[in-house]
Amino acid sequence: MYLAGVGPKKAALLKKELNITTYEDLLYYFPYKYIDRTKFYTLAQIHPDMPYIQAKGHITSFRKEGQGAKMRLVANFTDGTETIELIWFQGISWITESYTTGVEYIIFGKPTIFNSRINIAHPEMEEAAKQGDKLRSSMEAAYNTTEKMKRGFLTSKAIYKLIQSLMKLVVGKVDETLPDSIINAHKLLPINKALFNIHFPENPDLLLQAQTRLKFEELFYIQLNMLYKKGLRDYTFKGHIFGTVGEKFNHFYKNNLPFELTNAQKRVLREIRTDTKTGKQMNRLLQGDVGSGKTLVALLTMLLALDNGFQACLMAPTEILANQHLETITAFLTGMDINIKLLTGSTKTKARKQIHAELLDGSLHILIGTHALIEDVVQFSNLGMVIIDEQHRFGVAQRAQLWKKNTLPPHILVMTATPIPRTLAMTLYGDLDVSVIDELPPGRKPIKTHHQYDGQRLKVFGFLRKQIEAGRQIYIVYPLISESEKMDYKDLEDGYESISRAFPPPKYAVSILHGKMKAEEKDKAMSLFTRGITHIMVATTVIEVGVNVPNASVMVIESAERFGLSQLHQLRGRVGRGADQSFCILMTDYKLSAEARKRIQTMVSTNDGFEIAEADLKLRGPGDIEGTQQSGIPLNLKIANLGKDSKILQYARNVAIQILSDDPSLQKPENQALIRQLKKLNPDTVQWGMIS
Ligand code: ADP
Ligand code: MG
Repeated sequence: MYLAGVGPKKAALLKKELNITTYEDLLYYFPYKYIDRTKFYTLAQIHPDMPYIQAKGHITSFRKEGQGAKMRLVANFTDGTETIELIWFQGISWITESYTTGVEYIIFGKPTIFNSRINIAHPEMEEAAKQGDKLRSSMEAAYNTTEKMKRGFLTSKAIYKLIQSLMKLVVGKVDETLPDSIINAHKLLPINKALFNIHFPENPDLLLQAQTRLKFEELFYIQLNMLYKKGLRDYTFKGHIFGTVGEKFNHFYKNNLPFELTNAQKRVLREIRTDTKTGKQMNRLLQGDVGSGKTLVALLTMLLALDNGFQACLMAPTEILANQHLETITAFLTGMDINIKLLTGSTKTKARKQIHAELLDGSLHILIGTHALIEDVVQFSNLGMVIIDEQHRFGVAQRAQLWKKNTLPPHILVMTATPIPRTLAMTLYGDLDVSVIDELPPGRKPIKTHHQYDGQRLKVFGFLRKQIEAGRQIYIVYPLISESEKMDYKDLEDGYESISRAFPPPKYAVSILHGKMKAEEKDKAMSLFTRGITHIMVATTVIEVGVNVPNASVMVIESAERFGLSQLHQLRGRVGRGADQSFCILMTDYKLSAEARKRIQTMVSTNDGFEIAEADLKLRGPGDIEGTQQSGIPLNLKIANLGKDSKILQYARNVAIQILSDDPSLQKPENQALIRQLKKLNPDTVQWGMIS
């Protein structure tokens, strides 16, 4: 508020829109791009493919077009070579008061084309006479602003000016945020020089150095924070020791396991085995593409716990999936004397009470369930291993709840089928050890993926009939963006009706499955399909996670353009689980946005989950990747970009690892600056010295 040019109103706006309340916040509000303000175009040179352009000219006339909320102000703007239109949708009266015809202005904005005329919407404008003698930079910083800020006169230009006056006050006086040792060892720009050059680049090389330094700093402190806490946790918490591979594990391996484990499965089991016999508490993330056989790894891990006298639990994100785990695992354990039970939101009181009792007296060995497992009333006699399937649905806070189920926290294995790009994994799960199953069980045929437009539905139906005649089963999935959206249900129900008409009884049987159905109805629909009684399962994305019906070989995804990449990949993973050739058919509208087209193309061109995850990260940016919001890690980074700055990230992580391996609790004098900065950046962290 006290900075020249701010005042109470703008201060309030800055706080509300950007959460900027201090000089430091403003100083760390970085430009999102740099513009060449030395270059002017004539209007005749401008075409709509250009990014931002700068030109000089004058307004010849104003007119208003449209009515009410759709009203816009249009000005004809000319420089003698050509006339273009300037358009405003907001602040119309203010514009007409501020700008007049005949005065020469410098305009700046993005040209587009509308009604075959070039226009610029909401251009930045300055009177040319007032600007004539000002120095123009070939790298002028541009800042993101919101609509509200623009209306409050906090344009990019205005922010630029605020930072200019701030820089005059603080130039050379900002405290260094990294220890000298790091700055020297890695030849980083000092903080003052970096901050100056990020806002007012002296030359392209210094700008690059400034960016590198600030990105490094940002990523370094995230990594240091995570690794420091992990270190403390490993140090503070002892883990249950699984000293032996015992009778249950061996019996299962010898008698019940119907196939050879893949090498990847074996490797992961060895990693888990190593973790659990050391006396440390395991916190491991298991990444493996859909169908890679994570369930079996989970089961063997639980048997390991049982053999060492502990109980185990397996938590899944939906009832359907929990149910399915129960069935699969019960079947796998046929003939073995192991007590397994299911606990979900719909478990009846009587059964629930029995489960609680058996958990406490130790007679229940494996508990499978949903979020219901987290509740405080669920107490174990000796819980040693917690497995969480499909991590993306659970937050860090929920993970922490499970820690408390035993005096010594249980080992934790988090399984995710959504491959996460390495950079993101390092940031999101930097405090977990990571195992990867990067190999599918043998004999799988890659799924063939095709893109079909809505108009080709009859052809698709013909294909589906052939598949059914060949004994296969089919999923048809409709998008359901939100459980409450009526429109979506209408799509699903209309779809179900038309499919039921196209595939009439008695020859065909069609089931439907969606989130609003009662648990028993869902179970019934699922079981009819699992047993091969219904041929087609019309569903919403409730079948996205984990459902396993090997005989289902065709996945049709309706309105595929409305799904994100990771979701499409998850859905596709429901087929290709048996020996038969499987297909995924992506149905879309004819009209597709460039991004949607890219998603569909990616799906058609690859089955590799990691490739898809990388593409997703590039298309959407890390903040939008499914499940990352509740991770508690700041993904709205100020300057680094997890999609692009993987090298700096890796580098920063290595530096953090080096420092911590030399001084795990950061007590050496030269590391005091690091601890101070860590505390400053993470004030909310649960007491320092405690776990996260
Ligand atoms: P996901 O990793 O998606 O959870 P699942 O655990 O459901 O995968 O496994 C998919 C299918 O592959 C299951 O039918 C499972 O029995 C089978 N499977 C798992 N491991 C192997 C293996 N080593 N060899 C053959 N089939 C396997
Ligand atoms: Mg699974």
